[in-house]
Amino acid sequence: MTTADSFALLAPWLITMAPVGELRRDHAVVVRGERIEAILPAHELATRYPAIATLNLPDQVLLPGLINMHTHSAMTLLRGLADDLPLMTWLHEHIWPAEQRWMGHEYVSDGVRLACLEYLRGGITCFNDSYFFPDVAAEVTRAAGMRAVMGAPVINFPTPWAADMDGYFSRAMELHEQCRNDALIEMSFAPHAPYSVSDAAFVRMRDLAAQHDLRIHLHLLETAGEIADSVGEFGMPPLQRLQQLGLLNEQLIAVHMTAINDADIELLAETGVHVVHCPESNLKLASGFCPVWKLQQAGVNVAVGTDGAASNNDLDLLGELRTATLLAKGVSGDPQAVPAASALAMITINAAQALNMADRIGSIEPGKQADFCSIDLSDPDTQPVHEIFSHLVYATSRQQVRNVWVAGQQLLRDRQPLRLDIDQINQASSKWQQRIGAARA
Ligand SMILES: [Zn+2]
Repeated sequence: MTTADSFALLAPWLITMAPVGELRRDHAVVVRGERIEAILPAHELATRYPAIATLNLPDQVLLPGLINMHTHSAMTLLRGLADDLPLMTWLHEHIWPAEQRWMGHEYVSDGVRLACLEYLRGGITCFNDSYFFPDVAAEVTRAAGMRAVMGAPVINFPTPWAADMDGYFSRAMELHEQCRNDALIEMSFAPHAPYSVSDAAFVRMRDLAAQHDLRIHLHLLETAGEIADSVGEFGMPPLQRLQQLGLLNEQLIAVHMTAINDADIELLAETGVHVVHCPESNLKLASGFCPVWKLQQAGVNVAVGTDGAASNNDLDLLGELRTATLLAKGVSGDPQAVPAASALAMITINAAQALNMADRIGSIEPGKQADFCSIDLSDPDTQPVHEIFSHLVYATSRQQVRNVWVAGQQLLRDRQPLRLDIDQINQASSKWQQRIGAARA
């Protein structure tokens, strides 16, 4: 049976990630509306769906849409603004002053649109954002047709987004109300970091998160310096402080986690905290190394994110995954650490689990949302094709991403965005280049 809103994708290689590592040769994925209806061998398509519109994806591997687990999308406008500095100098002397000056509707809207274009062209269908004006970011993302979790910021000092703690919480709950029935956008709490958020604010968001079943998306243990500072100010390290405050559970998405020991890893595994690894941002700011392999062996769910373009400086999740995988081997001293298929899980199904969205995204299975990307392997740079997972992790560039769908809607066709206008986005970026540049001159 066929209706106007159904179609089939036919690919020589299909990675389902259900289970992790599953690869099917010459299969079709049938989509109806926003969902996946069926997966079947290509030769059965004509009999089971005789009149269905079919798109052939020759030389392409079809896989679940990639999920970028830690982003500050609007900060794409600050790409390359201040490099080669330590985290605190970078934040206090460059990033926060620029944000105080430019933050607002136009800045967030232009920055998120630029990020969405980069995400889509890199195969990313969903991102976990943490930034000011998440309501504006949600509007732009919705118009782009993408999926996201927008983190409502919580931080101890006033910003153009909120004047005080009550302001941060009331704006967060307004965002929650706006996202309640949204098919593509969800919200979370995004407290900046333990050193910039009070105990009272953590307790308040813990209770609201429990009541409304929300994630808490937090920068945690980005540098070893955070531990000594926390002991000085709160009498204990950040992880123990969060444990006392009742924040360590499966609702917490802890980003970075470079300064952790074996006891911390055990605590994370026991409490079900999800860890997001951002290797390139950590390398660039010389923040330290997240022990990914040890975490995974202890049973901790680990996903990967690019962080913002101001500290990376790109939003290339495939590139980030390659760095993460290579670094995991270097840090653990074990070449068998994080094999390619399980590496790919860190930007698909593991990420979906961390977001509490594994019932909808992260793998290609009937009933799930039709979020996919297809990657062309005909390029000589990925020939010959002996092993697909190895290619995706170690050899493929994001320029090989050809097509992207979110909820059954095609958003990228042969590398061309269908809803975003590249010329308009470039014009907006040059406007900000001049504006920000003139202010710094
Ligand atoms: Zn970050």
